[in-house]
Amino acid sequence: MTMLESTREFWRRDQVWPVLMDDDVKVDVSKQVILYVEGLSVSFDGFKALNDLNLYINDGELRCLIGANGAGKTTLMDVITGKTACDTGTVYFGQTINLLKHSEAEIAQLGIGRKFQKPTVFEAQTVWENLELALKASKGIWYNLRASLSASEQDLMLGILDTIGLQTQSKQLAGALSHGQKQWLEIGMLLASQPRLLLIDEPVAGMTAQETERTAELLTSLAGDRTVVVVEHDMEFVRSIARTVTVLHQGSVLAEGTMDDVQNNRDVIEVYLGEEA
Ligand code: ATP
Repeated sequence: MTMLESTREFWRRDQVWPVLMDDDVKVDVSKQVILYVEGLSVSFDGFKALNDLNLYINDGELRCLIGANGAGKTTLMDVITGKTACDTGTVYFGQTINLLKHSEAEIAQLGIGRKFQKPTVFEAQTVWENLELALKASKGIWYNLRASLSASEQDLMLGILDTIGLQTQSKQLAGALSHGQKQWLEIGMLLASQPRLLLIDEPVAGMTAQETERTAELLTSLAGDRTVVVVEHDMEFVRSIARTVTVLHQGSVLAEGTMDDVQNNRDVIEVYLGEEA
């Protein structure tokens, strides 16, 4: 993606006119659940990619979603983030926000951040500039991109740099970062919009063992204040971070529990982990 295309992407998110969105829309997590997915079905040409799927994510948890290729993980993320429409079902962000009534751009503004597998940072910009652009882009179309950062925005950026462990690379061009560092920077760019729920797709694919370990620490540290849902194929990694693992199969939840629970689940062994073995 060129710089121009990437910038357009950001602006597309900002097509939500602030006058139409209530900036103070609060996610009601009074029941400790931040995401409700119920009876969700999506079909493509008659093929059911999601089939009456039910999923509940607690506020502040770090949930791992696993499943063989084609199990429906990406389709689920696509529906939650407004990229794909569903046939039937409901998706609620907290008690009151019906995500199915919102566009992809509005869902991002509501506080759901998504990171795709491949890092898409601006390689010709520094780490700091990447974060600054993400922060300004998240403010909406009326925000002056040339305005200098306020003290609280600077603090937010410094906090993010600290969280993603790239303080010393702050002035370095993003293109010169390692693959793992680019992934962390992109997570930082998501954090700039201060999301409540982060959906992260295969964060450790292509990472070194050391980067994988650092990513486990990073994602674990993000949960609590935010909710983090990770889709990942790397079982060692899932074991290292997950308290609760949800296994998808043929568009439905096959099993859910601790890693030990699901690894010892007969159905899971048969259809998923068995295949891997
Ligand atoms: P992977 O781990 O390989 O990414 P996944 O669990 O994310 O797999 P999905 O990408 O959600 O699975 O796909 C579920 C099924 O739906 C697959 O059989 C896929 O081929 C099909 N599918 C997904 N998107 C479309 C589409 N736009 N048109 C037709 N079929 C689709």
